[in-house]
Amino acid sequence: MNSPSFDIAVVGGGIIGLATARQLVGDFPNLRVAVLEKEPGVAAHQTGHNSGVIHAGIYYSPGSQKANFCSTGGAMLRAYCDERGIPYEMCGKVIVAADESEIPRLEELHRRGTANGAEGLEVVGRERLLELEPHAAGVKAIFSPNTGIIDFSAVSRSYASDLVAAGGELMTGAALLSITRRDGRLYLETNSGVMSARGVINCAGLHADRVAGMMGVDIGVRIIPFRGEYFSLVPERTSLVRGLIYPVPDPGLPFLGVHFTKRIGGSVEAGPNAVLALAREGYRKSGFNIRDALEMAAYPGFWRMSASHWKTGVHEVYRSRVKTAFVKSLRKLVPEIEGRDLHEPGAGVRAQAVDRRGRLLQDFSIAQSEDAVHVLNAPSPGATSSLGIGRYIADLAGKSFGLTA
Ligand SMILES: Cc1cc2nc3c(=O)[nH]c(=O)nc-3n(C[C@H](O)[C@H](O)[C@H](O)COP(=O)(O)OP(=O)(O)OC[C@H]3O[C@@H](n4cnc5c(N)ncnc54)[C@H](O)[C@@H]3O)c2cc1C
Repeated sequence: MNSPSFDIAVVGGGIIGLATARQLVGDFPNLRVAVLEKEPGVAAHQTGHNSGVIHAGIYYSPGSQKANFCSTGGAMLRAYCDERGIPYEMCGKVIVAADESEIPRLEELHRRGTANGAEGLEVVGRERLLELEPHAAGVKAIFSPNTGIIDFSAVSRSYASDLVAAGGELMTGAALLSITRRDGRLYLETNSGVMSARGVINCAGLHADRVAGMMGVDIGVRIIPFRGEYFSLVPERTSLVRGLIYPVPDPGLPFLGVHFTKRIGGSVEAGPNAVLALAREGYRKSGFNIRDALEMAAYPGFWRMSASHWKTGVHEVYRSRVKTAFVKSLRKLVPEIEGRDLHEPGAGVRAQAVDRRGRLLQDFSIAQSEDAVHVLNAPSPGATSSLGIGRYIADLAGKSFGLTA
């Protein structure tokens, strides 16, 4: 029996795989493109469990891919949503310095954000902060009017419709199991049959290193899962937060610190933290997967990372287990918050690439191999940046696979 044949197989129906696939069929109309997604629907992992923030590009090193893709991708995303009628709200965000000691880092963030082209950034004093967020603590803040909120699952579904409307194929419930090369083609074995392609674009998120491994590619990093746990505020207390309230983050880590996030439906979330997970899809505190845990333990980079960040790691576990510790962090931002204001716990798991020396990759990482492009590190602001990343990868794939329009 002949296996279905494509030019490009995109592995992963998260927001980045879908953005890439729709860009490919747009740029190269004759190309046969398939997206393989192991879950029954799109956006089932990072994309469907994120905070829903359209970031303005404040935190990232100027010149980095995060800085570039966040500002171009964010503008593309808003234009796309305007065209498609997908709701979003530019509700603005404040990053608050809890005390005088945090002001130098706050000012450094302001310099970075301005260098990155984040529009309208202002350093504001306490009085203006209280006009913006009447219940916020803090001695000074950055106000970012160009930060907003959106439902990234809805955006992903729209990208998927674009793909299918342009003749691309979305294969859900198709988990990629192995890849073999034969006669210049790639044969992808899935749990629902075999298909072939000339090239692969690996957007497998929490499993991106494994998909690269199926192609015999040593990518020099492993995905280490970090769970981000959050609560919702009870409806009677959502008025404590108008938009988005963030702390000044630890500059040594690629996480933003627990914060308050207004959601597009009107609810408010508190979190997420960043706890090492013992399962790549470990959405519960008790989540444990023997393969994931053993592979992590066998990776020298994991132990080097643990040696450098053990204090933060222990604190994160403590704050995850002891609700009063979680509340204490939140009170630095909004002192009126009480434990009883938090309900409906939820979580997402970040795919964070860690190199052999134990360094957490700060920037996005997109690598090429003989017949593939691999997205190795695409944590936040990956969803905001999706259209920018998709355009970049489609361009890269066009050149390396010799695609013609
Ligand atoms: C808690 C949290 C909060 C975040 N907040 C924000 C935010 O506010 N703003 C922002 O811009 N970004 C945010 N992010 C980051 C953002 O969600 C990610 O950058 C983005 O979703 C990455 O998309 P992706 O397509 O690479 O990965 P994913 O969405 O994880 O998609 C990968 C897909 O690949 C599939 N897959 C894996 N292996 C296989 C296989 N073998 N066969 C077939 N399919 C496979 C998976 O099922 C999955 O659907 C957050 C992330 C988390 C976890």
